[in-house]
Amino acid sequence: MSVAATRHWHRLEDDRVQCDVCPRACKLREGQRGLCFVRARDGDAIVLTTYGRSSGFCVDPIEKKPLDHFLPGTSVLSFGTAGCNLCCRFCQNWDISKSRELDTLADAATPEAIAQAADRLGCASVAFTYNDPVIFMEYAIDVADACHARGIKALAVTAGYMCAAPRAEFYAHIDAANVDLKAFSERFYARTCSGQLQSVLDTLIYLRHHTDVWFEITNLLIPGLNDSDEELDRMTSWVVRELGPDVPMHFTAFHPDYKLLDRPPTPPQTLTRARSIAQGNGVRFAYTGNVHDREGGSTYCPECAALVIERDWYSLGSYALSDAGRCEACDARLPGVFAGRPGSWGRRRLPVRMMSFGR
Ligand code: SF4
Repeated sequence: MSVAATRHWHRLEDDRVQCDVCPRACKLREGQRGLCFVRARDGDAIVLTTYGRSSGFCVDPIEKKPLDHFLPGTSVLSFGTAGCNLCCRFCQNWDISKSRELDTLADAATPEAIAQAADRLGCASVAFTYNDPVIFMEYAIDVADACHARGIKALAVTAGYMCAAPRAEFYAHIDAANVDLKAFSERFYARTCSGQLQSVLDTLIYLRHHTDVWFEITNLLIPGLNDSDEELDRMTSWVVRELGPDVPMHFTAFHPDYKLLDRPPTPPQTLTRARSIAQGNGVRFAYTGNVHDREGGSTYCPECAALVIERDWYSLGSYALSDAGRCEACDARLPGVFAGRPGSWGRRRLPVRMMSFGR
């Protein structure tokens, strides 16, 4: 199990075959791989070369994805593959996303084995994370379907850099997503990620207006590159205008990595400033991330301002929502997906070898 057929491609007049999964639109001759490395031309078609292979599995708290309004406190079986369709100079997972070694993909697992493992580990969801599931969408879809058959949810952690037809196919199988909105300028996307902002905005609009997928947004703030008041003001105004006030936004801290080593780590004050700009523009759930900040990491009722979910990093503290996600003080319904009492996974991280669950 490794090579799988794919659907989103077409032949060009010059005999190359174009992949239509993401706006990169790689045009491949026989034997060539796309920029993501995992999709390649094989004969007259594009195939996925890493179906059923993973760079590793781990049980994480859902708050780490981050998703704060989706089954809080529960555990998630997380995995990724290799490769990526963006080239972010600041990549915080570059050993996986830029891997050109198939050795990275040591842990093989069928969709059914993953669903079975999630079930046995007591996970409420499986997350496609560490690298972008856009590039291994056929595998992710089959895993999601196997999970749904056992009542387990499927989550995507993604940069949202995807074309319209595969986007619609992919999200028909996904329950929740965290979309990385890396900046709010085409210049940043072009220079720092070799991508385009507009495709990501299209994904966000699609999710909000054409699906029931619960989604939250993450914005990693890099000192001097995407953290100005003006850019944060434009980004958060756009979110409220186009997506509404109830899409949670997470402002998270950068640490120097990969090819961006000349910038300092993000000061906590920058995250607090971003949160406050977002709130000023009407974002009702703005969070700071990757830092100990009880106030910035907790959820407050949008109607009566009561503290309803207390968080410190990935750990939950006090919890004042009903089983249906209503504020215990004023009965207002919190946007998101809530089912029963919160989980008690805490901030633990548990590496898992899939071999121990059979294949
Ligand atoms: S998914 Fe991969 S092969 Fe397809 S267009 Fe994007 S980078 Fe190229």
